Amino acid sequence: MIAGRAVLIKLPRDKCDVDYMRRLMALANLAYRGYEVWVPDIPKSIQYQLYNFKDFKTSLIFGTTPKRWFMRAWVPLKVLRVYGDGSMKGDKSAPVVLDFRSDVIRLRQVCRNEPGFVVEVPMPRWVIERVGEGGDVKFAMIGLKDNEPYLALVAERVVEPYVPSGYRLVVDVNAWSNGVAYGIINPSNKIAEYSPLRPNLRLIDTWYHKAEKLSKKLGKLKRLGLDSTPEARRLAREVKALRRKVYAYLRDFAQKRAHELVMKALRLRAEVLIDDVIEESRRELIEEKIPSGLKKIYLAETRRFIKLFTTQLQWYDVPYRFERLPSTVCPICGHKLIQERGRVMACTNCGFKAPRDKVPIHWARLLARRLSEVY
Ligand SMILES: [Zn+2]
Repeated sequence: MIAGRAVLIKLPRDKCDVDYMRRLMALANLAYRGYEVWVPDIPKSIQYQLYNFKDFKTSLIFGTTPKRWFMRAWVPLKVLRVYGDGSMKGDKSAPVVLDFRSDVIRLRQVCRNEPGFVVEVPMPRWVIERVGEGGDVKFAMIGLKDNEPYLALVAERVVEPYVPSGYRLVVDVNAWSNGVAYGIINPSNKIAEYSPLRPNLRLIDTWYHKAEKLSKKLGKLKRLGLDSTPEARRLAREVKALRRKVYAYLRDFAQKRAHELVMKALRLRAEVLIDDVIEESRRELIEEKIPSGLKKIYLAETRRFIKLFTTQLQWYDVPYRFERLPSTVCPICGHKLIQERGRVMACTNCGFKAPRDKVPIHWARLLARRLSEVY
């Protein structure tokens, strides 16, 4: 199996011709759709690139085919790798060069339509780390995101999942209000570690309510026809900044926790069980008396967390599977659990009791025992 990981690198805007890049993206869109359009004023070498990629157009590397006409597609590019000892891999005329001798990335004539125009960016640590882990960067893409030029690098690695040591890492992904709960089950089937991972909810709430308050103020000004005054503009900027802050914080939290959990699994050579209960969390959230905007925030980046987590598990050869681990059914007798105060789940039939987020971990533990009883 081949695992892939990608990274986005911002390109220096002053060295990029955004209109040119936009045209390349439009051509890439046509190429994805099977059309060959040759434009006289764009170098043939770059256009050849696009049509050479036709065979890969449905591959994971380039994502999915653009859904709409004229939607901007990222421009796929080949990559030449030049290693420290001077050896090379890839097409010598590739427009993207990763030079490990001087740790720079060179982009040839894809940022601006001038013969011999080269943009150099420092080699990110990400690339060095992935290559150190046995990965290879064969492909890249350039494109615009929020009108800013970016380079995306795709690292690939051939993987073969390891044989688990008998440890299991169980990860229960909920809305952020309850967080991601994880548990480690050791080879003798005991819960060796358990912890919920929750972002700083108070911080999120504070930012959210502040943004709401300011946006109400802004609404008032707008209704009075004062939406182009400096005061209104300042408010609009502040609201936007606060909202952005919330999402950036959650994104960062998701990324860090996903990585930590992958490293934990790797250290223990554990098998990973993931219970993706985002849908259940969504239903649970709907019933709660909190503003709908906040509900949306609590669910933000949870899908991305799973995506980040599984991509990295694949990358590091960690075996994983999705498993439905109920939190409302007794793992011992199968009776329905009732929820007591403080999200404690209790069984009226056999007396089992555990925090709601820990129930799935018990399920995972007992799942193995039941299986071993059968065999
Ligand atoms: Zn029970």
